[in-house]
Amino acid sequence: MPGIVIIGGGITGAAAADALAREGHAVTVIDRSGIAAMASGRTLGGVRQSGRDPAELPLARAAVELWAGLSETLGVDVEYRRAGNLRLARTPAEVDVIRALVESQRAQGLDLHFLPDNTAARAVAPAMSPDVLAASYCPTDGHANPVKATRAFADSAVRHGATIREGVAAIAIRVARDKVTGVDTTAGFLPADRVIVAAGVHTPALLAPLGMDMPVSTRVVSVVQSVPLPPCLDQVFGVANADCAGRQEVDGRLRFTDGLSEGAVDPAHSTAESSAPSATSVRDLVALVAHILPIVRNAPIARTWNGLIDLTPDALPVIDAPEAVAGLVVAAGFSGHGFCLGPVSGLLCADLALGRAPRHDLAAFRLARFRGKPIAPAALSLHG
Ligand SMILES: Cc1cc2nc3c(=O)[nH]c(=O)nc-3n(C[C@H](O)[C@H](O)[C@H](O)COP(=O)(O)OP(=O)(O)OC[C@H]3O[C@@H](n4cnc5c(N)ncnc54)[C@H](O)[C@@H]3O)c2cc1C
Repeated sequence: MPGIVIIGGGITGAAAADALAREGHAVTVIDRSGIAAMASGRTLGGVRQSGRDPAELPLARAAVELWAGLSETLGVDVEYRRAGNLRLARTPAEVDVIRALVESQRAQGLDLHFLPDNTAARAVAPAMSPDVLAASYCPTDGHANPVKATRAFADSAVRHGATIREGVAAIAIRVARDKVTGVDTTAGFLPADRVIVAAGVHTPALLAPLGMDMPVSTRVVSVVQSVPLPPCLDQVFGVANADCAGRQEVDGRLRFTDGLSEGAVDPAHSTAESSAPSATSVRDLVALVAHILPIVRNAPIARTWNGLIDLTPDALPVIDAPEAVAGLVVAAGFSGHGFCLGPVSGLLCADLALGRAPRHDLAAFRLARFRGKPIAPAALSLHG
């Protein structure tokens, strides 16, 4: 009896598997590497509503509600902390950007505050440098442990009856009479009457043979992680021009990232993810972040790595069941902010796979929105 195959064991696929398995459906997750091998294991781990596109904000708010109970729901401490998010201004022009962001998001009902000067910013986060001129502050944003959270979803899915096959890659999605019939994989054919593609930057390559064009520009982001340090920062911070972001993990490690690479890489051939950032780019990133958080300047570095971002032209994801192929669900293109959304994306995938009305309006996330449009250069996206 064919069931549901999910391609990709990141937070999107793992959360979808958990949602479907809890409802008693036969689910198999395949991942060509392993659970949390790509963006979901390499992310900053920010869980934020602030800085979201209006279309995405309802999903982020629902996700934040779910994050609050996730450790209990999944039976594992995912280190979720609702400790706030600061978006910082370092120039007078950025102060205007932040002020406008606060006004527009407050108009959408988000509890977002404008901290108008350095004193106000340091009253919230004393470790910030005097170079911070102003900030937005969302007290209900936070962060979580990416690998623990993604694995917790996968383990919970297994406890509810799902099968997870790591080291198995999807080669092609099989379709007959406009309906999915299964997935050709490196371990043979898996029959399925529904297929959820949650393969991050590799999603477009799986959709192209079905005649579906998903424009994704794959960008590289570098991450630096320090050794454990005494507590110094509760909040996640980002900056107005999105060139860096960071937080302190629960065990004291500082984890910070740069902005998206200017140029795109080909995910099929890029070695960016498997190689470490260069010594120069690590040095530049440390210097950049030290202007915001001076403690970073002398923090011993424990690890560095690169991650890939699946950036769409409007920096919004595709969460859709395209009409052309019955049984197909696509959830990818999260553009650097899909970790927070994971718990909701999983539920939405389940809704779409089961053919019921999705619990949130997904009009802004249809794949067809790109059809026939010139592909503009992807906008700079706020990650973190
Ligand atoms: C450095 C960095 C910082 C970030 N910061 C934040 C943040 O602070 N907050 C936030 O919300 N988001 C952030 N993001 C984005 C977030 O991490 C991603 O949007 C999210 O993790 C995407 O999850 P996913 O499950 O959709 O994709 P992924 O985690 O990329 O998972 C896709 C999976 O599919 C598998 N796969 C691919 N092709 C195949 C195939 N053919 N067959 C089988 N399996 C396949 C891969 O191995 C992978 O495990 C950041 C990302 C990066 C890289």
